[in-house]
Amino acid sequence: MPGYDVAIVGLGAMGSFTALELAGRGASVIGFDRFSPPHDQGSHGGETRAFRTIYTEHPDYVPLMKRALELWERLAAEGRPELLTWTGVLSLGEAGSPLIHGVQQSAAVHGLPVQSLSGEEIRRRFPAFNPPGNFTGLLDDRAGLIDVSAAVGCALQGARRLGAELRLDQEVLGWSVEGREVRVSTRDRQIRAKRLVVAAGAWSGAILRALKLPLLVRRQVLTWFRPHRPQWFQPGSFPIFVFAPGAFYGFPEIGGAGVKIAYHEKGDPLPAFPVQVPPVTEAELAPLVRDIARFVPGLLDPDRPPLDQMPAAKTCLYTMTPDGHFIIDRHPHYEQVLFGAGFSGHGFKFAPVVGEVLADLALEGKTGWPIDFLRLEGRF
Ligand SMILES: Cc1cc2nc3c(=O)[nH]c(=O)nc-3n(C[C@H](O)[C@H](O)[C@H](O)COP(=O)(O)OP(=O)(O)OC[C@H]3O[C@@H](n4cnc5c(N)ncnc54)[C@H](O)[C@@H]3O)c2cc1C
Repeated sequence: MPGYDVAIVGLGAMGSFTALELAGRGASVIGFDRFSPPHDQGSHGGETRAFRTIYTEHPDYVPLMKRALELWERLAAEGRPELLTWTGVLSLGEAGSPLIHGVQQSAAVHGLPVQSLSGEEIRRRFPAFNPPGNFTGLLDDRAGLIDVSAAVGCALQGARRLGAELRLDQEVLGWSVEGREVRVSTRDRQIRAKRLVVAAGAWSGAILRALKLPLLVRRQVLTWFRPHRPQWFQPGSFPIFVFAPGAFYGFPEIGGAGVKIAYHEKGDPLPAFPVQVPPVTEAELAPLVRDIARFVPGLLDPDRPPLDQMPAAKTCLYTMTPDGHFIIDRHPHYEQVLFGAGFSGHGFKFAPVVGEVLADLALEGKTGWPIDFLRLEGRF
């Protein structure tokens, strides 16, 4: 039976960067994925992800965010400029709403610059928007988007170049600890490894069943609309935006694919280990179309049915924890097993630093990054 330093289950956002980091440190690595990442079946589908330096969720995300940004910029400078596009993020809401208050507080605490814009200034600068009269806008310039396919593709290619063995379209069916080693089984093989890293996204609860992780998988709907006035919606003239009610958000148009629009705070719960995700229905698009008309009226041609202007609608999975923070830890019963799960709809931007953390835990047994708030033990 072949042996490796580390086996990885799941080569999506977190697993691909863990493979890259481990292979870069000289470890012998084998990684498995049930699909062929990048793909649309899990949590990294949908083309783009936002990154921002102002983080309201917990202060300890800020150093992780800064490190992740350093790593994204390094990858972009090493010949993948398409990875990162600086667009800014504009948060819109009533003064004092949790979103606006959170951004102001995080900017103040971490000394990060943020521009405050009145409704009138927003309309002048970004004519596609029509914020209600009592709304204010906060623009974080140190923010933008990551191209998901470029990012996951670049991590997997890099890992492979560094010697990692990546087995795509091969589902891990189970694992067991035998002495000091872990055995990993797929339909047609068994391998041995000194360490196992589980980064299985929405399926993490299944592969770590005995831990009964408190994960809720939510089906999110993503839509793309062809802008009526394309010049208003390109990076540089249109930021990523988020409106306070329902966290209705959108991205500028990239490569003519349309403007991506979705909700962060809505999404139906799915059975614990999703097998089939129901497709998008017309009925669930109605609130989205209403909010576009209300907040971003410049997007659609009023003389054509909105859904005729929507080239694509897809689903993507959030894996939520009760407190919305990730879980990154060592298995409480087996020190050979490490995992990163429950990235709660905001993990992608951290993927390179999560890769470093999981590689630290796998090879050194500890990490210097502040992840105590993300540990499982004693938390839920
Ligand atoms: C609609 C949407 C919008 C988002 N927006 C943002 C954003 O703007 N910014 C941000 O930072 N984050 C965002 N996120 C969150 C981010 O994309 C996720 O946190 C991140 O993708 C989680 O990575 P993961 O590696 O845990 O899961 P995934 O990327 O899904 O990877 C898990 C992998 O494990 C594989 N796998 C599972 N079980 C097995 C098995 N038994 N054997 C082999 N392989 C297996 C799967 O096939 C999959 O490839 C968003 C997520 C969604 C759904």
